[in-house]
Amino acid sequence: MVSNVVFGRGSFNQLEEILLLKRLNVNAPFIFLVDDVFQGNEKITSRIPLSYEDEIIFISAEEEPKTSQVDALVEHIILKFKDRPSGIIGIGGGTLLDLAKAVAIMITNEGETSDYQGWDLVKNPAIFHVGIPTISGTGSEVSRTTVLTGPEKKLGINSDYTPFDQVVLDPELIADVPKQQWFYTGMDCYIHCIESLTGTYLNAFSQSYGEKALELCKEIFLGNDLSPVESQDKLMMASWHGGMSIAYSQVGIAHAMSYGLSYLLGTKHGIGNCIVFDQLEEFYPEGVKLFKEMKLKHDIQLPTGICKDLSDADFNTMIDVALGLVPLWENALGSNWQKTITRAKLRSMYEQM
Ligand code: NAD
Ligand code: ZN
Repeated sequence: MVSNVVFGRGSFNQLEEILLLKRLNVNAPFIFLVDDVFQGNEKITSRIPLSYEDEIIFISAEEEPKTSQVDALVEHIILKFKDRPSGIIGIGGGTLLDLAKAVAIMITNEGETSDYQGWDLVKNPAIFHVGIPTISGTGSEVSRTTVLTGPEKKLGINSDYTPFDQVVLDPELIADVPKQQWFYTGMDCYIHCIESLTGTYLNAFSQSYGEKALELCKEIFLGNDLSPVESQDKLMMASWHGGMSIAYSQVGIAHAMSYGLSYLLGTKHGIGNCIVFDQLEEFYPEGVKLFKEMKLKHDIQLPTGICKDLSDADFNTMIDVALGLVPLWENALGSNWQKTITRAKLRSMYEQM
């Protein structure tokens, strides 16, 4: 679990105080990995507390994080600084948070980042790392994984060393997220709830978090009474609870199939999940019905025909990626999942998207 959390509007201002206690020495910098959407945004950058050798690295969230990108960042840090950094601070959405987690792990672990994609392969504790979400829904701020696209697969580094040592939850930071992106990333949280709560891996621990997150999602995306401030506060907590719910159970079909889209077409996580989930009435009837209501209420049009020009080889690549995620299928459909999910079935589902 994340060991330290602060929550509250304006809590981003406490970062300086938090880091002060964690600086190892003047040669051991803090490295801030910041979404480049904030480059030139004084409201954010002027509040990043820089001292000594500390460095801000602006990174685009246009593409999802890659293992090669983590390797390059770690090499840059190791070559540039005499001492190991005091900490890595990720400021942004799931993309930047996952990068920060992965860099913190790879500073203390030998070899290439792709060697650690999987479950519990990390040998040494990561360096101190802090997550500061600026968009809510993925639950990356709380999860024990960092999802990366490698040379062979899109798969997380799942380990006890992955979670942040400190998270700063400041709902003011998510106020300016564009509406479409707010919906897609918010729906990631909603889909986490549905996949967790209907899954065979469910247990009382996951359920308690999943139910709370689902209740918050309904208020945020279907209610009529929330002010923007309330909606931001609640979405931040929904993301946290949704993340806690899947950390102790598993996601399901939308995630398995969306990983295929992401691997082949680069479709981003939030929108990819929406495109898939929209077609999953057969598996999640109640959840998909509410999803369609939310889409309508917020006037969201999802892209269509994204698979229409794909070759047989392309479909096979996506099917291989999706079928590789065995725990997700098992969670969704139980141990006999292969009876329902054949290659032909997946092909026909992808063809609808
Ligand atoms: P993101 O980080 O990719 O950002 C989406 C867009 O929103 C970007 O254009 C970004 O610049 C912009 N943005 C972010 N904050 C903003 C702000 N305050 N104002 C204006 N624009 C802002 O989006 P995401 O949906 O949070 O993250 C997706 C990533 O999260 C994927 O790589 C996915 O694999 C990963 N993920 C990780 C976990 C986990 O547990 N580790 C879980 C789910 C998803
Ligand atoms: Zn997700």
